[in-house]
Amino acid sequence: MHQLTLAEIARGLADKKFSSEELTKVLLARIAQLDPQLNSFISLTEDLALTQAKAADARRANGESGALLGAPIAHKDLFCTQGIRTSCGSKMLDNFKAPYDATVVAKLAAAGAVTLGKTNMDEFAMGSANESSYYGAVKNPWNLEHVPGGSSGGSAAAVAARLLPAATGTDTGGSIRQPAALTNLTGLKPTYGRVSRWGMIAYASSLDQGGPMARTAEDCAILLQGMAGFDPNDSTSIDEPVPDYSASLNGSLQGLRIGVPKEYFSAGLDPRIAELIHNSIKELEKLGAVIKEISLSNMQHAIPAYYVIAPAEASSNLSRFDGVRFGYRCEDPKNLEDLYKRSRGEGFGAEVQRRIMVGAYALSAGYYDAYYLKAQKIRRLIKNDFMAAFNEVDIILGPTTPNPAWKLGAKNSDPVAAYLEDVYTITANLAGLPGLSMPAGFVDGLPVGVQLLAPYFQEGRLLNVAHQYQLNTDWHTRTPTGF
Ligand code: GLN
Repeated sequence: MHQLTLAEIARGLADKKFSSEELTKVLLARIAQLDPQLNSFISLTEDLALTQAKAADARRANGESGALLGAPIAHKDLFCTQGIRTSCGSKMLDNFKAPYDATVVAKLAAAGAVTLGKTNMDEFAMGSANESSYYGAVKNPWNLEHVPGGSSGGSAAAVAARLLPAATGTDTGGSIRQPAALTNLTGLKPTYGRVSRWGMIAYASSLDQGGPMARTAEDCAILLQGMAGFDPNDSTSIDEPVPDYSASLNGSLQGLRIGVPKEYFSAGLDPRIAELIHNSIKELEKLGAVIKEISLSNMQHAIPAYYVIAPAEASSNLSRFDGVRFGYRCEDPKNLEDLYKRSRGEGFGAEVQRRIMVGAYALSAGYYDAYYLKAQKIRRLIKNDFMAAFNEVDIILGPTTPNPAWKLGAKNSDPVAAYLEDVYTITANLAGLPGLSMPAGFVDGLPVGVQLLAPYFQEGRLLNVAHQYQLNTDWHTRTPTGF
């Protein structure tokens, strides 16, 4: 039963092959048995899950239907869940029970999804390896000595190991797409404003976006349907109708114009990944797509710009964690300044402190123009490159990551080496565009992802291309040994 996708679960529940309660019990037992190897969960919510599963079964018995009604999922531990620990992977929030549900959590619960737990993540979503979590590193089910990617590494490892069919993630610079690529999943970062950020603990507010992680594009469509939509509580949420994403999965790729940026195939890309990307291009050509070389000439500036803008916003967002209102408070503070200093010094880990310092520096008087303002100008140039490219092509294709998953600890002493892994993903966040990563093959037994980018609000197009590809390839069906 644990091999079933969301789409198959929906059919099984509708046909009364099993109940949501039965399925939930099977998956909870599987998590108890296998997760100690992976560390993909920070909290399990067994009681809530069984209550929700029984309620979903009752709703189905009353004639209700719906693709998510009774479907087991988990939330990245950055989404607020009422009365349940919401740690954001940090000691700072280890004792924090959110007083309300994030919009995404509330919407999915209303659709009948069953929450099995909260998944592990890099502290405050800062990282690409899930090693900065206060709760310890997450292991990649494809090779337990390797990282699963981050920051949504817990969601990725859990879904890849078939502990559950799908989970939520968030993506500020690649944190859905990169761990999806490194664990053989399909993951979608929606257009900025498509999914409400209300109740998502903020890292970099102008870049953060929640989205689905699952094994197939078909399942990402189902989960995104439950997440997307206007929310008056999020002032950057966009009031656009939500299309039927599952209905968008049957389009022909005949004549689809795919742009392949020449900058993507530079020296930094593992040649074995380049070969797999070329294979996926050939596959899409067989389905009728037309390939065109394009240029994203400002791409080389993306990492420096992102690593100014994201820390700048983080330094502001994380100022609310002061030891006074919620979260960690140091023992016996001598005075108010000591309370702030020690609560923050003891509550935040090294990477979070590094980013707060970089961000505060970049925003300080005298440096603002040189760093923050400059980075914002680069951001606009990157967006302009995309706008020009999308005048000529329908989607942009390339690798999701320059390398497959690295060994645990391999990049710990060199933060910049880890930042460079984000080279293909962060441009979509800077421009606010939707992006998807899907399985494209293996290098040394480790999964590789291909990334697709589309114009604003064209999530349906991304999902359709990925679905057509998945109808003709079987990479996404491969299961890690031992799981
Ligand atoms: N790896 C990037 C960072 O560390 C992106 C993280 C994310 O998308 N949350 O900032």
